[in-house]
Amino acid sequence: MIGLYVHIPFCPSLKCPYCDFYSVPFNPELAYSYSQAVIRNLKEYNDSFDTVYFGGGTPSLMPWEITQILAKAHCELNCEITIESNPGGLSTGDLIMLKNSGVNRISIGVQSFSDSELYYIGRNHTAETAINSIRLAYDSGFFNISADLMLGIPYQTADSVKRSIDMLGKLPLTHVSAYMLKIEPNTPFSSKPPVLPDEDTVADIYLTAANELEKLGFLQYEVSNFAKPGFECKHNLKYWKSETYLGIGAGAHSYYFGERFYVTKDIKGFIDSHTQQTIPIGSEADEASAFADYAMLKLRLTEGLTYKECQRFGIGRAELEKRLLNIPEGHVTIDADRIYLTKKGFLLSNSIIAKIIYE
Ligand code: SF4
Repeated sequence: MIGLYVHIPFCPSLKCPYCDFYSVPFNPELAYSYSQAVIRNLKEYNDSFDTVYFGGGTPSLMPWEITQILAKAHCELNCEITIESNPGGLSTGDLIMLKNSGVNRISIGVQSFSDSELYYIGRNHTAETAINSIRLAYDSGFFNISADLMLGIPYQTADSVKRSIDMLGKLPLTHVSAYMLKIEPNTPFSSKPPVLPDEDTVADIYLTAANELEKLGFLQYEVSNFAKPGFECKHNLKYWKSETYLGIGAGAHSYYFGERFYVTKDIKGFIDSHTQQTIPIGSEADEASAFADYAMLKLRLTEGLTYKECQRFGIGRAELEKRLLNIPEGHVTIDADRIYLTKKGFLLSNSIIAKIIYE
């Protein structure tokens, strides 16, 4: 089964100061031409999909074009179809149109229920707008709604995160993505960095968020993702399990029948080409890099990495356990058939996973 990712590179005119996703200010004519190019590419690849994900950017800026794209996509029965949106971005009419076109999952960029935290990260909505958007989506017939929460915001504390999560618990949500704020190169935050909470506070914030979400029934299944049972994001699971997905659009990445490739971040180039021009990424020809790619993604999941999976890459259990010797206690659990990171391990996931993969 193949997943489809469609990158929609348009946002409201002002870019959030921490964001390095590819997007330009929304322009209706450009958005229309872009959607036509997406449709051309869909015809060219001619695949059937069991998950579709409209990410960006802010896809909710162009609900009509999304319905046109979906009308041309071959979706399997019960296909999970997600659209990313921002609070205040969709009216009841837009939501009903999207619902009728097959969209059945909405991911809303809430980030925080504290107005001062939203201000520090340059978001152009309030907590109240976010609450109203979630309720509006639910009242319009969306019963699979995810909220993004940002951790490590300037002046954020474990207590303020707990307050945001208490609010999440009162809303009809099935999924929460809780991401750490990272200062990315070439963003306004990188040229003028905000004052971030210190390392101990960030650790406290992350562990508080994970524990509070679990108390509300959102079970952690990935470093940054929590879901009510049965509501894990099927599309994103394909990324972490190295399953096949096709990316369409400027800046979109694919893992398509064993080949990784991407499309350049060039909206005009994408619109002007009959078929998107793809650029290959690396090669999995050598076993060590194939293992690194696979294990890096798999260890982000709470289910972890099985010994059987490692054997496929010529790595035996003894070799894997030798690599765990340098990892401080309490960060990795060794089970009968697999290893997986603990919550403390997830907090340091990049360095822990690097030790497992490369040492
Ligand atoms: S965070 Fe979202 S809304 Fe803000 S600029 Fe990035 S893609 Fe656009």
